[in-house]
Amino acid sequence: MSNTNPFILRLGSFLPQTAGYSREYSFEQSEIQLKNDFILRDLKGLLTASRTQRGLLLQGDFKGNLKLECGRCLSIYEHYLNWELTEFYVFNQRDAEEDDLVLSDNAEINLTESVTEEAQLDIPINPVCKNNCQGLCQTCGTNLNIEDCKHKDIPLEEISDEDNSPFAGLKDLL
Ligand SMILES: [Zn+2]
Ligand SMILES: [Zn+2]
Repeated sequence: MSNTNPFILRLGSFLPQTAGYSREYSFEQSEIQLKNDFILRDLKGLLTASRTQRGLLLQGDFKGNLKLECGRCLSIYEHYLNWELTEFYVFNQRDAEEDDLVLSDNAEINLTESVTEEAQLDIPINPVCKNNCQGLCQTCGTNLNIEDCKHKDIPLEEISDEDNSPFAGLKDLL
């Protein structure tokens, strides 16, 4: 990780403030590598840090695009991720409750890991490039979004001929 990591925040300026003091941090990166195999594009985010009596509350809202393989047509596409982040850092270890983190002496916070974890939770189990993705032809493997190889179970001609069949009139009766 380079030392220009935007998720490392130095929050020492919060320490002399009174409870209720808050600041916003905005994030904008055309590309950021959060982990070896986890690269986000067009990352945008807004994080609010607020000082309370016990510590610092961080609340963020982030979005970005991740390259994924479509489960239907196997093409690589940019998947839009949108996730939130909430962390609480206590000043003193003895004040820590479940899930609380303890602020280091230099008040430096590295959110890389928690941002990455929350972002990964927004990745679908079965990614699809678009809702109406036609997938691959079972017969020849053609990407049906790009080309129609006419291998579908019911050929298009038969569907359009249906109205001319002797049974077409039954529909009106029923
Ligand atoms: Zn697809
Ligand atoms: Zn085909």
